[in-house]
Amino acid sequence: MAKYTVTHTCGHTESVQLFGAEKERKRRLDWMRGQDCATCKAAAVNKDNDLPALVGSDKQIAWAADIRRSFYSKYPALKTVVTETSAKWWIEARLDSLAERHLEIIRRKEIARNMTKADIFRRAHAITKALVAKYPGTNYQAQFAQSLKYAYEWVREALAA
Ligand SMILES: [Zn+2]
Repeated sequence: MAKYTVTHTCGHTESVQLFGAEKERKRRLDWMRGQDCATCKAAAVNKDNDLPALVGSDKQIAWAADIRRSFYSKYPALKTVVTETSAKWWIEARLDSLAERHLEIIRRKEIARNMTKADIFRRAHAITKALVAKYPGTNYQAQFAQSLKYAYEWVREALAA
């Protein structure tokens, strides 16, 4: 292990401890000298885009900004939905399953928004037919009233989500 003082491209210096083989340490130092320091990187990240500033340590912010950028480019529809500003949150979140959940909510909301009264009745009839087929002897009218209630509830919930 050895201690080094690195002067970054922004002019700030930083004291770092490096481990490993001499060659590897030199490679790492060269790389660090070619970068702004963590504070400047975090400040640049928070200034240089139209997104809300991230909150966290400088290193977390720089890291989280990369994660957030690729998340929004992969799921542009979620840019106004997932607006967390904690850097730690972005680093730790399970983003793909989170995205799937949000996209499903958006998809349902879209369906619900476009559903007419006739669509809701059609849906209730479809549910009722399926239940009557599965449980012969079911009273169609009574079940339909129930199914219609479910169908309206589904629409209400989808719109409220
Ligand atoms: Zn700096």
